[in-house]
Amino acid sequence: MNCSLRFLGGCGEVGRSAVLIDDDILLDYGMKPGESPDHPPSYPLNGIHPRTIIVSHGHLDHCGVVPNIMDVHPQVYSTPITKYLTAFLAKDTLSIARRSGQMPLFDSQDLQEFVRSARIVDYRDRFECGEYTAQLYDAGHIPGSASVLLESENGIRILYTGDVNHTDTRLLNRSEPQPKADVMITESTYFGTDHTPRKELEQVFVDSIRDTLNRGGNAIVPCFAIGRTQEVLMILHKHGLHPHIDGMGVDVLRRFIQYPEYLRDSNALQAAFSNATVVKPETRARILKNALIVTTAGMLNGGPALFYLSKIYDDPGSKVLLTGYQVKGTNGYHALTHKRLTTKSRVLHLRMAVEQYDFSAHSGDKELKGSVQKFCDHGGEVLFTVHGDRTEEFAAWAGEYKVDATAPANGDEFMIE
Ligand SMILES: [Zn+2]
Repeated sequence: MNCSLRFLGGCGEVGRSAVLIDDDILLDYGMKPGESPDHPPSYPLNGIHPRTIIVSHGHLDHCGVVPNIMDVHPQVYSTPITKYLTAFLAKDTLSIARRSGQMPLFDSQDLQEFVRSARIVDYRDRFECGEYTAQLYDAGHIPGSASVLLESENGIRILYTGDVNHTDTRLLNRSEPQPKADVMITESTYFGTDHTPRKELEQVFVDSIRDTLNRGGNAIVPCFAIGRTQEVLMILHKHGLHPHIDGMGVDVLRRFIQYPEYLRDSNALQAAFSNATVVKPETRARILKNALIVTTAGMLNGGPALFYLSKIYDDPGSKVLLTGYQVKGTNGYHALTHKRLTTKSRVLHLRMAVEQYDFSAHSGDKELKGSVQKFCDHGGEVLFTVHGDRTEEFAAWAGEYKVDATAPANGDEFMIE
C-alpha cells in the first residue's frame, strides 16, 4: 500500500496547520492567528470528506476551524483537555463574531455536534482510523498536547510532531521520547534560534518587574490564556511575587487543575493560583496603583490587557512585559517595534517601557535538530518540515543526514511507497 500526504496549510508559516493523509485522515484543522472568524478557509477541502480528524492540541492555529466540517460527520479524536480547549476557543470565536457583526464559518449547532461526537483518547491508547492505527504521545507543549503516530496496515509509520517541546517547563514535563517512524512531519518554529535558559530568563524577568514596582509603576504582563498564563503565575509564585490575574486565562487555569495527570505538578499550579488575586471587571480601574497584573490577550489584540494599557500608556514609570512571540501585524508587534497601540477608537503612543521575554513552549534549535537526528538514527527515511518561517533551511540542514527532506508548500501532495 502507498500512502499520500497532502499539506493543506501551515507550510512555511505559523498558522492554519492541516495535513491530509490518504484524503481520509486530517491531522489538525487550524486558523491563522489574527484572521477574522468569517475569513474563508485558506485551504478548502474541495469536496474531500475525511472520515477522521485527529487534533494535536488546543491552540487556534491547530484546532480553530474543526467545527467547520462537522456537517460531513467526521470522527474527531483528541485528548480530553484538547477537546475542552477546542470547544472553549470555538465559543470565543462565535462570541467575537457576534460582537463584531461577522458571519463565522460555523455556528453553535456545529459546535454542539463537535462536543457531542468528538471522542477522547489518552496518550498511548491505540485507536483505528480506516487503514491506520493511531496513537498519541505527550508533546510537552501545552496541557493535553500530542504528537500523532499513524501506522498503516503494511507497517509504514508516520509521525506528526504537532507543536512540541523537548524541555521541561514549570507547568509541564518535556515531551515523551519520540517513537520510531519512517516518515516524520516536524514543526520548525524555532529552527535557527536557541532559547535563553529558563533560570536565567526568569531572573531577568522577575528583576525587571521588581524594579518597576519599586519605582511605583505598574507592571502589565500580557499572556496567552492557554499555557502561558499558568506558567507565568508559577514563575511569579516561585519568586515571591503576588500578581493580580485577569482574563480568559483564569477559566483555563481552573479547568487545567481538574486534569492533574496532564500537569507536571498540579499542587504547585494550585498554590500559584491561590497566591494570585482574581480581578473582577468592575475593579479594573481601581487596582492600577503600583500593581502587577497578569492578563490576556498575549498579543494585545483584545481582552483586559488593552484596557489596562489604555489607562497607563503614557506613564513612563510603568512597563508592559510581553511573554511570547508577537505575530506581525498584531498590537503586540506594533508595541514592540513602534511603541504604538490601536484600540477601538484611538491610536496610542506608548511612553511606558515595552519588553519581551521568550517563555516559549516550543523546542529551540538544538532540540529540533536533536529530534531529527534521533529520527534518522532510528532508520527514518522521509522528513517534512512545516510550521515555521525557516522550513526550507531546516530541510536543507536535515538533508545532510541522508534523509529525504522537504519543506512542502501549501497544497503540495506526496506519495510514500
Ligand atoms: Zn501550539
